[in-house]
Amino acid sequence: MSSFLIRGGHVVSPADDLDARLDVLVEDGLIREVGPQLDRRPDRVIDARGQVVSPGFIDLHVHLREPGGEESETLETGLAAAVAGGFTSVCPMPNTSPVNDRPELSGALLTRASEIGLARVFPIAAVSMGSAGDTLTNFRALAAAGAVAFSDDGRPVKTAGLMKTAMETARRLGVPVVEHCEDPSLTAGGVLNEGAVAEKLGVKGVPAASEEVCLARDLVLANATGAHLHVAHLSTAGSVELVRAARRRGVRVTAEVTPHHFVLTDEAVLQHGTNAKMNPPLRRTRDLEAVLAGLADSTIDAIATDHAPHASRLKAKALSEAPFGVTGLETALGLAMTFLVHTGRIAIGQLVTLLSVNPARIINRPLGRLRVGSAGDVTIFDPEREWIYRVEESRSKGRNSPFHGWKLKGCITATIVAGKLVYERAA
Ligand SMILES: [Zn+2]
Ligand SMILES: [Zn+2]
Repeated sequence: MSSFLIRGGHVVSPADDLDARLDVLVEDGLIREVGPQLDRRPDRVIDARGQVVSPGFIDLHVHLREPGGEESETLETGLAAAVAGGFTSVCPMPNTSPVNDRPELSGALLTRASEIGLARVFPIAAVSMGSAGDTLTNFRALAAAGAVAFSDDGRPVKTAGLMKTAMETARRLGVPVVEHCEDPSLTAGGVLNEGAVAEKLGVKGVPAASEEVCLARDLVLANATGAHLHVAHLSTAGSVELVRAARRRGVRVTAEVTPHHFVLTDEAVLQHGTNAKMNPPLRRTRDLEAVLAGLADSTIDAIATDHAPHASRLKAKALSEAPFGVTGLETALGLAMTFLVHTGRIAIGQLVTLLSVNPARIINRPLGRLRVGSAGDVTIFDPEREWIYRVEESRSKGRNSPFHGWKLKGCITATIVAGKLVYERAA
C-alpha cells in the first residue's frame, strides 16, 4: 500500500478536538500519525498549505440509479461524482429498480461498489417490500448484508402502523429509520411549493403541512418506541421547530438538509424550470431562514445532497410532467462554504461536523475522525478558491442542476478513501 504525507494543512476534526496546522500521515489505509512537521519519507507528499484537511465527507442521501436507471446514472459515474465532491462515503437510497428490499440486492450493490473502488457505499434498504408500504422487509438480514438504515425514500412510510413496527425493529438492531416526510393526501398532483410561484405557473402546490403532518406522526412514534428517527431533506420552518421541540423532550431524532434548501427558494423555478423541481420542493424565504437558523444552532445535524440525477430527455418534459430531483454531489461543499461559512453563519468546524462527524454517528460507523488508527478517509479543500460549476464538466451523468454557471468560493482539491487518492483537482 502507498503512504501519503498531507503537509501543512489546517486540520479540522471536531471529534478529535483538532483545529490546527498539522501534518497527517496516511499509510496502509489508515491514519498513521498526526502532528506538527512530521519527519517521514512517504511515497508521496500532498502540499496542503492554505487548505483545510477534514475527515472524509459522508453523504447520507444519494440516488445512484443502478440497477434500473442507468440512463440517468450508474454506480461508477455516481461514485466518481461523489469523490469529486469530497465524499468518501455515500448512502444510496433503495428506490432503484428493483427496490433494494432484499439482502442479495444490498450485497450485490456492495460487491459492485468495491469493484469500482472510489467512495465507500453504505446502502439504505427499504422499510417495506418494493417500498409499497404493505409488508416490512427483513431488517435483520438486510442489516447483516450491510444496510445501515431503512427508508422508503421517494415516498413516506405508508401508515403509522407500519412505521411503528419498523421503528421497534430498527431500535432492536440499533439502526435509524430515515423518513421522507410527506402526506400524499396533501401533495397529490403537487409540483412546486404551494404559494405565489405555483399560482403564477398554474401548477398545483405542495403545502408545508404535507411534510409537517408526516413528521409530527413520526416524532410521536419515535417517542413511543424509543427508536432513532432520521428526517431526510427537511425543508420547512415548521419542521425545524418540530425537530427542535422534540429533541428538547428527549426524542431520538436527527435531521438533514440539502444545499438547495438552504440556498434557493421557490422563486428559482421561474429561472431554472424543471432543474429547480424537487421533492420536497424549494420553499419560501422564511423557511430558508429557519433552515439556516437550524444549521447554526445544531437543530439540524447533517448536510446531505439528495443527489438525484435524471437523463436530460426526462427533465426536458413540461414542469408538471418532469421527474423530481437535482444533482448535488459536486456542488455541496462549494455551496456550503459560500452560503454558510463565508457569510459567517457557521464556522468551518461546524461545517465538518455537518458533513462528516454527525453523518458517521447517524449511521453508526467509526468514521468522521482523523485520530491515529482511524480509517484513511480524508477530504482536502481550499476554503478561498473560487471556481465555476459547469454541468458539462460533471462526472455525474445528470445535467439537472440549478447551479450551472454559478461561481462558488470553496473547492475540493483532493479526496482520499482508505488511504487511496481517488480524486485530485488540477491546479
Ligand atoms: Zn425523499
Ligand atoms: Zn431522496
